[in-house]
Amino acid sequence: MNKKTIQDVDVRGKRVLVRLDLNVPLQEGEVADDTRIQAALPTIRYLLDREASVILCSHLGRPKGQVDDSLKMEPVARRLAELLERPVTKLDDCVGPQVESAVAQAGPGDVILLENTRFHPEEKANDPEFARQLAALAELYVNDAFGSAHRAHASTEGVAHYLPAVAGFLMEKELEFLGRVLASPEHPFVAILGGAKISDKIGVIENLLDRVDVFLIGGGMANTFLKAEDYDVGDSLVEDGSLDVARSLLQQAGDKLILPVDVTVADRFEAEAFSQVVAAGNVPRGWRILDIGPRTLELFQGHLENARTVVWNGPMGVFEFAKFAQGTEAVARMLANLSGATTVIGGGDSAAAVKRVGLDDKMTHVSTGGGASLEFMEGKTLPGVAALLDK
Ligand code: ADP
Ligand code: MG
Repeated sequence: MNKKTIQDVDVRGKRVLVRLDLNVPLQEGEVADDTRIQAALPTIRYLLDREASVILCSHLGRPKGQVDDSLKMEPVARRLAELLERPVTKLDDCVGPQVESAVAQAGPGDVILLENTRFHPEEKANDPEFARQLAALAELYVNDAFGSAHRAHASTEGVAHYLPAVAGFLMEKELEFLGRVLASPEHPFVAILGGAKISDKIGVIENLLDRVDVFLIGGGMANTFLKAEDYDVGDSLVEDGSLDVARSLLQQAGDKLILPVDVTVADRFEAEAFSQVVAAGNVPRGWRILDIGPRTLELFQGHLENARTVVWNGPMGVFEFAKFAQGTEAVARMLANLSGATTVIGGGDSAAAVKRVGLDDKMTHVSTGGGASLEFMEGKTLPGVAALLDK
């Protein structure tokens, strides 16, 4: 990686501002899933072990630039304190005189959590004065919020202009694994792409076109490809506005691009809908494709068997409905069973699907960044990464 990390600078005894992605789901005022808090622990512990004063910040939800009592950081502070087994001081704001004096009093090994950065409209506006105020709290800035790195906000980008800025461990891990599959993948390299909309994934397909050996296409996005090939997809979700780009991608990718040969169709978009498996071109009138079929899974398995690198983004079907989760779950099991291959999962829903079947530990890397991992795979520069010091 060509960016400096927390291990490349002297952190001992310093006041360190750490941007985390603590945007966790809340339920009745408590953290419903602490995955993101857990993911932040290595960086926090590393700093505490070196007697730094640790000043943490994050956004939480979408408070629209004003204080929203339901999106305050207290539940996060409570959970973090439990996990760290030490007190976490939650402040009422993230900038201003009171915050400055609280931070100035912090000693080595103290942990402070600032209030939701998005309570200020200046955060998303990447206001330089607000970024400067955040920077004034510390001597060093560590960005460990990969999931927010595609946004140029004050706490993810602006602040890096006023302090030495380095990557935390989670950021480093994400950039390493995602970077490796783009820069130096072992072949055969297979990309599995799905999800609802082809328009979301066109950039990824284009950026991977010359890198991968095979694209396995499932999910709703396959419907637009199928329709572009003149298959009858019934009432399936199709983006008619993307038919031309689908045709062009089919032409460019040629034999590389593998579409479903059979599909599970439903008579309505509901968990309890009637379902049947049909050939990809035989969707009955009024029915819609909600999953890939068993012959498609065999076809995919054949392409995956010898793969050395696999990137997966986007579920193979409407996995939120148990009846239509089979394709997604089967693909997760296939990847889990590949021995010796590098398997990287990007995308919020894909990561959730892999976790739901308990196979996340079997993957080489499950990205914590939904939108960020997608933009990275599109080959875009992430502003939060670009702002960090070069090695
Ligand atoms: P990720 O978050 O992993 O990038 P996306 O957000 O692109 O994935 O897509 C996930 C969504 O795609 C899920 O909500 C799923 O229900 C939907 N989806 C998958 N297959 C279909 C389909 N055949 N028809 C409609 N929606 C689908
Ligand atoms: Mg999604």
